[in-house]
Amino acid sequence: MENKTLIFGHKNPDTDSICSSLVMEKFDRNLGFEVEAVRLGDVNKETAYVLNYLGIEAPRMIASVEEGQAVVLVDHNEFSQSVDGIEKAKIETVVDHHRIANFQTAEPLYYRAEPVGCTSTILYKKFKEENMTIEKKEAVLMLSAIVSDTLLFKSPTCTKEDKIACEELAKIAEIDVNTYGLDMLKAGTDLSDFTPDGLINIDSKEFANGDFKFQVAQVNTACIEDVLKDKTEIENAIQNFINSNGLNLFVFLITDIINSNSQCIVLGNNTEAFEKAFNTKLEDNMAFLEGIVSRKKQVAPVILNNI
Ligand code: MG
Ligand code: MG
Ligand code: MG
Repeated sequence: MENKTLIFGHKNPDTDSICSSLVMEKFDRNLGFEVEAVRLGDVNKETAYVLNYLGIEAPRMIASVEEGQAVVLVDHNEFSQSVDGIEKAKIETVVDHHRIANFQTAEPLYYRAEPVGCTSTILYKKFKEENMTIEKKEAVLMLSAIVSDTLLFKSPTCTKEDKIACEELAKIAEIDVNTYGLDMLKAGTDLSDFTPDGLINIDSKEFANGDFKFQVAQVNTACIEDVLKDKTEIENAIQNFINSNGLNLFVFLITDIINSNSQCIVLGNNTEAFEKAFNTKLEDNMAFLEGIVSRKKQVAPVILNNI
């Protein structure tokens, strides 16, 4: 077991999961705690853009934790999205902006949850509350996470607090958020060298309600048609994923970040749950969802309400 407390975000880490882990590491170290930010999967291209901008390395990758390992969870709480072995870890702290589900601990803990658009917005507030100076590096990390999670403030998950935090952080970072943010998001839309398997795993989360298990994966693009060129191969990858994970339903969101819509590829034995949730009929395993960009606010809860 590691002596240090390990800090990490969810599997298939996104920019918030990586950046918030690094910022939380700084926060805890400022308070004198022995901690290390780690990650549960490959860094995506959007996040690589951020790390490259700062000239820093990604946190070390871990696959599992041993019984009793002290951990801090950021940007998630559901065990199905966390590290292997989480059930027997000692969860000291959670800082998150998602629903709380499939979560329990044996001991008391610090739990900070706020319904804001990004974990980094909560971390920004924690720095303020402790009167801690925010340095340029952490400012860039936090503003990148906010831009990513809110799709440059266009997602319905974005709150006033996210915008205020981002404005303040942009001053410290000396960054024009719109220019930097669009470049960062665009870096994440380069899907050219992903296999269909890779594509459905870039940003993929499992949800469960009783026996009903479903997965919602999402990719960002500036051109939906480009992604659909490989539709058959993507469908095969999804079907294999369903079979090996015993899922009822798989929803693959291809999100157009320019126009804020999503094309969905939907497969599984229970696709009627999706059709009911969105009052739509699948054609060719697909449905176009106008104005839908947020898995957390507009997709996962709607499906959960219809199963
Ligand atoms: Mg996340
Ligand atoms: Mg997040
Ligand atoms: Mg996300």
